[in-house]
Amino acid sequence: MKCAACHNEMVQKKGEIDLRIEGKLYLVRNVSYEECPACGEEVLSPKVSQGLFEKIKNRRFVEETIKIPVLDGTYG
Ligand SMILES: [Zn+2]
Repeated sequence: MKCAACHNEMVQKKGEIDLRIEGKLYLVRNVSYEECPACGEEVLSPKVSQGLFEKIKNRRFVEETIKIPVLDGTYG
């Protein structure tokens, strides 16, 4: 599969990604995805994302409090 952003060949990976769905941020662990080595674009297969949407719909997730470094990109 090629990257939608820069058309590089993407590589299959397994690990942790973040997903933003309807404004809410989700952290997904142990998931298979494809990553673009050039620009870092991450893509889930339709089957995987379908499964994740199902889990979110049925609230089959745990809520953890994690600390995320937050940056303010304002300059000038
Ligand atoms: Zn790319």
